[in-house]
Amino acid sequence: MSTTLRDRLDRPLRDLRISVTDRCNFRCTYCMPAELFGESYTFLPREEILTFEEIERLVGLMVPMGVSKVRITGGEPLLRHGLHELVRDLNAIPGVDDIALTTNASLLGRMAGQLRREGLGRLTISLDSLDSAVFSQMNGDKLSLQRVLDGIEAAEAAGFDAMKINCVVQKGVNDHTLVALARHFKGTGHIVRFIEFMDVGTKNGWQLDQVLSAHEIFGLIDSEMPLEPAPPNYPGEVARRFRYRDGDGEIGIISSVTQPFCGECSRARLTTDGQLVTCLFASGGSDLRAPLRAGASDDELREQIRGIWSGRSDRYSEERTEQLGNQRPERVEMYQIGG
Ligand code: SAM
Ligand code: SF4
Ligand code: SF4
Repeated sequence: MSTTLRDRLDRPLRDLRISVTDRCNFRCTYCMPAELFGESYTFLPREEILTFEEIERLVGLMVPMGVSKVRITGGEPLLRHGLHELVRDLNAIPGVDDIALTTNASLLGRMAGQLRREGLGRLTISLDSLDSAVFSQMNGDKLSLQRVLDGIEAAEAAGFDAMKINCVVQKGVNDHTLVALARHFKGTGHIVRFIEFMDVGTKNGWQLDQVLSAHEIFGLIDSEMPLEPAPPNYPGEVARRFRYRDGDGEIGIISSVTQPFCGECSRARLTTDGQLVTCLFASGGSDLRAPLRAGASDDELREQIRGIWSGRSDRYSEERTEQLGNQRPERVEMYQIGG
């Protein structure tokens, strides 16, 4: 039977974000800072990572509960061997209407075409600055800006249009380069989305004074290239949309810190090792890998997933203000749940 699950705040389950690896070839300071994720850092061993078959089984069970959009993320998802096979198989699950992938684009040059052919619908690319010094500073000086730009070009050639370009904004770090980023993509059909620096996890040393607010971000872009608000494309869209007044495209601003949007949050997250997490800021998840591997039936797994979602009452961003100043509790890290 197909019934959309609702949580305790009456929010449906619609989106599933799947982290396919906890590894990454970047060391973004706001996500996996190099001093904490050095050469000796131990990532998950292969046997702890969900197989594609396990992921596909869980997605197949969640579709009748409401999931229609799937986003593949990580870590850096393009590091997961054979990723195109997962895309192909997810695409074959009836009811999965939309498969997207979030990537740092460094490996897209050789993978974009195959991913497109296997049914990947949409790409989100993370790119924090077009200033190569700022770019390197933010991504831990791993790979060149040119490598990312080449990845974007390869994706365009493969037929991905209207890509989202995610830019994490940190005050005093890349705020002076936002206008140039917006200008570069204006008129291309791609949509730059500026993201307020978030206090995800416990490892990025987040401070409120490092956040440039959505209001300030809007002001910076609007003063150079006038903007007007645009309506959401669908309920629960995380980015607020703004159109260029000259009709030459749009930007988005994701204001999770200053204007939270928990009320319409329909996203669940599956970690690389099979935990189902109901909020980006959760202290942990519910283990689905153990029952999967212990031979649980579909009914038993469905029951467990139903229980997790129907008991959900997370609204962390809305509660953040009350929490600021208090001791920060344990949290899942961004590279484990993939944004
Ligand atoms: N490695 C891929 C990438 O960077 O696109 C996918 C995983 S990454 C964790 C997903 C998204 O989360 C990226 O767009 C990244 O910029 C964003 N992100 C990571 N840490 C963040 C933070 N502290 N605040 C806001 N966004 C963050
Ligand atoms: Fe890697 Fe993405 Fe995290 Fe940067 S944001 S360290 S690219 S997982
Ligand atoms: Fe959803 Fe949690 Fe973010 Fe609120 S804080 S929008 S509940 S993920």
